[in-house]
Amino acid sequence: MLKGKHAVVTGSTSGIGLAIAHELAANGANIVLNGFGDPQAIEKDRLNLEHEYGVKAYYINADLSKGEETRKFIEQSAQELGGIDILVNNAGIQHTDLIEDFPADRWDAIIGLNLSAVFHGTAAALPHMKKQGWGRIINIASAHGLVASANKSAYVAAKHGVVGLTKVTALENAGNGVTCNAICPGWVRTPLVEKQIVALAQKMGIDVEAAAKELLSEKQPSLQFVTPKQLAGAAVFLASPAADQMTGTTLSLDGGWTAR
Ligand code: NAD
Repeated sequence: MLKGKHAVVTGSTSGIGLAIAHELAANGANIVLNGFGDPQAIEKDRLNLEHEYGVKAYYINADLSKGEETRKFIEQSAQELGGIDILVNNAGIQHTDLIEDFPADRWDAIIGLNLSAVFHGTAAALPHMKKQGWGRIINIASAHGLVASANKSAYVAAKHGVVGLTKVTALENAGNGVTCNAICPGWVRTPLVEKQIVALAQKMGIDVEAAAKELLSEKQPSLQFVTPKQLAGAAVFLASPAADQMTGTTLSLDGGWTAR
C-alpha cells in the first residue's frame, strides 16, 4: 500500500516509534529511524527493516529537543530518502511532579521535545509535501492530549498543544493533499511507562505486575495495555487512501480512558 513512499519516524529506536517504523516498512515504505540508544542495537534494527521488508532504511542521529537540529534532521532525511511523504512525530519523554516541585529544566525539555519538535519537524517537512501535492503528518499525542492527570503538567500541556497544532496544520493544508492527524494512545507498556510502573510499585510497596494492574485500573477501563503494534496499524490506516479525507482529528486507542 505504501510502496515507494518515504517515511520519517522520530524516536523510533524504541517502543511505539519502532513498531510504527516496522508497520510502515511492512507496507513498503522506506524509513528514516531516529532516536537514542546503543549504536549496535540501532544498526541491527535498521538492517532488520531492510532484510525483512526489502525497503531502504536509514538511521539519523539527531537531538530533536533542539529546533535547528530538528529542521536539519528533516532536510537530511529528505536527502537520504529522495523525498519525504510521511512524517510521524513520535519522540517524547515524561517527568512527573507537582507543579511547584517540577524542575524548570524538565519543563523545558518536555515542551522542547514533545511539542516544539512537532512544530519544527512539521515546518521543515511541509514544503516537501506541498510541492508533491501529497503528505501525511501523524502526531503521536496521548490521552493526555485530551484530558489531564495530576503531576504531569508539562506532558499534558505539550500533548494538548500537539492536538491544537494538529488542527492548525490540517486547516492550513486542507485540500492540498497533505493531511495531519493525531493518535492518542492510552497506557502502552514501553520503557516510558515502565519507569512509572516501577515508581508506583516502590511507592505502594507492591510488586511490578501488581503496580501495572493498579496503573491500568486508575485510568484504562479495558484493564489491558494498548500495544505498539495496534498503534502502528492506526498509523498505517492514516497513511492509507481510506483516510484521504481525514484531517485535523484525533484517533483514540485508549481502552476507553477518554470515554468516561
Ligand atoms: P519510549 O521511551 O519507548 O521511546 C521514546 C523514543 O524517543 C526513543 O526512541 C528515544 O530514544 C527517543 N527520544 C528521546 N529523547 C529524544 C530526543 N531528544 N531526540 C530524539 N529522540 C529522542 O517511549 P514510547 O512510549 O514509545 O513513546 C513514544 C511516544 O508515544 C511519545 O511521544 C509518548 O509521549 C507517546 N505516548 C506514549 C504512551 C505510553 O503509554 N507509552 C501513551 C501515550 C502517548
